[in-house]
Amino acid sequence: MKNRGAFMTDLDKMEIRDIPMPEPKEKEVLVELEYVGICGSDVHYFHDGRCGSYVVDGDFMLGHECAGTVVELGEGVENLKVGDRVALEPGITCGQCEFCKSGRYNLCPDVQFLATPPVQGCYENYIAFPENMCFKLPDNISTKEGALVEPLSVGMHAANQGNVQLGDSVVILGAGCIGLVTLLACKAHGATDITVVDVIPKRLDYAMKLGATRVINGKEVDAIEEVKKITNGAGVDKVMETAGSPFTIKETPFMVKRGGTIVLVGISAQETVEFNFAQIMDKEPEIKSVFRYRNIYPQAIAAISDGLIDVSGIVTHEFDFDNIQEAFDCAINNKDDVVKAVIKIK
Ligand SMILES: [Zn+2]
Ligand SMILES: [Zn+2]
Repeated sequence: MKNRGAFMTDLDKMEIRDIPMPEPKEKEVLVELEYVGICGSDVHYFHDGRCGSYVVDGDFMLGHECAGTVVELGEGVENLKVGDRVALEPGITCGQCEFCKSGRYNLCPDVQFLATPPVQGCYENYIAFPENMCFKLPDNISTKEGALVEPLSVGMHAANQGNVQLGDSVVILGAGCIGLVTLLACKAHGATDITVVDVIPKRLDYAMKLGATRVINGKEVDAIEEVKKITNGAGVDKVMETAGSPFTIKETPFMVKRGGTIVLVGISAQETVEFNFAQIMDKEPEIKSVFRYRNIYPQAIAAISDGLIDVSGIVTHEFDFDNIQEAFDCAINNKDDVVKAVIKIK
């Protein structure tokens, strides 16, 4: 067994090196990784050296959306065995703080999240990881789908935060990867009328393929007017903002129905964003936000296994580990085409 890892050594520069084989500690398993996705955050770190307030300092391994096979058990591992295929939830939390204790562990201030500086990621062959953050995949889920449980969890948490229900009308702003997994999650929650808004025709095509009721190209028409037309002026039950653009964030209060819910999923590069609170005071909608996800992996895996959610349509590009530089170049240069690229590690 030989371990190799891919490190960004400079902006836009990736290098694969031999690295030591990790040893699973108590209650950890050694996982041979098979697929690791490329997240928008990975691309930001790679190209800009930062994502929000997190800054890359020195050689850094990216990657956090991963799945593989258990090849060795540390001491005291009880629930997994060698040969189990698993998806890794990439945030290890303290388990002691008020947020962990109340089940809202995604808010734990001491979280160690893969590929969030200074915590290294997992573009590597082998990783030692806590057993309780490795979720067993049923036979009918591939490790490629397993790697997509992570982004899907963001969409499912968004649908949970919005309390999306049977019969809901939903607008999803943004049809990138997170917009599309939010679409899948809203459908699985029973939303029956889903409008997806983006400015890139190819992404709108993907949204239609994945089950949107209709799409709006925000470059061609005024999306607010269009939503008003569709709903006879009432607005929709749930507005999910996944683009993270000041422009679309600003649109949300004009699209939501009175008493509806706005869910903010996308992170704007601009910290302060103009927002019409007169609309909010008039309509009394709830405003919810999303930070990663919590307690979702088991449901996400069950939903994929059951066929309720099909994530396979999200992957548009696949690269071998040796071509990871090319994969990142592609994600940067063909932004409009790439919904989700995955690295085949094994
Ligand atoms: Zn991700
Ligand atoms: Zn904690």
